[in-house]
Amino acid sequence: MRTQNWYRGEVAPKQQHSWTLADRQKIYTMRVKQNLPINDILDLLGVGITRIKLFNQIRISRAVFARKCFRCRKPVHSRRPLGSLLACKQCKQKLSEYKKEMRRKYLKRGICGVCWERKVVPGFTACRKCISIAHRRRYIKGICGKCGKHSIYKSSVALCLNCLKSNKKYSQLYRARLREKVHG
Ligand SMILES: [Zn+2]
Ligand SMILES: [Zn+2]
Ligand SMILES: [Zn+2]
Repeated sequence: MRTQNWYRGEVAPKQQHSWTLADRQKIYTMRVKQNLPINDILDLLGVGITRIKLFNQIRISRAVFARKCFRCRKPVHSRRPLGSLLACKQCKQKLSEYKKEMRRKYLKRGICGVCWERKVVPGFTACRKCISIAHRRRYIKGICGKCGKHSIYKSSVALCLNCLKSNKKYSQLYRARLREKVHG
């Protein structure tokens, strides 16, 4: 069988820094409550965060800690913990429309619908790297590589019972791939 080179090797860490609730709480405390200078906060947060990203996150934190939409600053009712990213109905809709539109645009040009950077694998909607990273992250955690919802079925290498049943052909291919990785 052909070697699946893209399936081998280490799982690369996420390139983009994604802000968590704890990050926003930290930023809000440092900037708004303690009034620390931007440079001090940058030092405390460590590598990978630019000044512009931090400014942006401070703006977002101010909004969400006041229970306002992070985009248009309209008040939003939410039971989620203070500091969670909040968006009003209209902005949520706009954001999802924008994402869908971009995804469609990129896929039409043969570019990955996830990272919007690399070429898609024919027959898929993502590039090799994005397929590989997502599937393998799940696989390592013991979660179904296809749906990412259920745990891996006991007799399967990578899929849950639901996905095994629903797509036999896919699962055969997937198992062959993983078998190659584990035993090959
Ligand atoms: Zn809004
Ligand atoms: Zn991609
Ligand atoms: Zn599944």
